[in-house]
Amino acid sequence: MIKRHKVRDTDLEGKLKKMFPHFFKERFIECSVNDGWAVLVYLLCNMIEAHFDVRNEIGDKNVKKERDEFQIFQIKEKLGELRFYCNSSNEYVSGLVSTIMAISSYTCEFCGTMKDVGKTRDWIKTVCKDCLKEYFTDDTEWKPLEIQKLLSKEE
Ligand SMILES: [Zn+2]
Repeated sequence: MIKRHKVRDTDLEGKLKKMFPHFFKERFIECSVNDGWAVLVYLLCNMIEAHFDVRNEIGDKNVKKERDEFQIFQIKEKLGELRFYCNSSNEYVSGLVSTIMAISSYTCEFCGTMKDVGKTRDWIKTVCKDCLKEYFTDDTEWKPLEIQKLLSKEE
């Protein structure tokens, strides 16, 4: 079981709203992920922004409307993965969201490392060995990800 949910209160939501104010409009609910995924959330917002910029530079007439209408509804964790809900039906943006979601399932939600990362059993969380000790009770069942074999010196 989890002991403490929040690692630090860095006000990720407040910072994102300052960096990407136009992405957060009246239908936004919350950003509730831990700090370990802050970089992933930032990258995603930044890549969406860059996508609109590039299309604007090449004279895409539809991009202004799309950028004006784009909004994030919610950023949260579910089943050990980052979920990023937005109103875009743009395939490129959907691809970015899926990619970041996949990376999050290999990244500790608490500290952001990709080393010694595994999943807790009952209430699925993506957490590294160190954060497991820090933020979960001793009886928490945890299994390292198979991909960790790539990073291990052992055969
Ligand atoms: Zn960690």
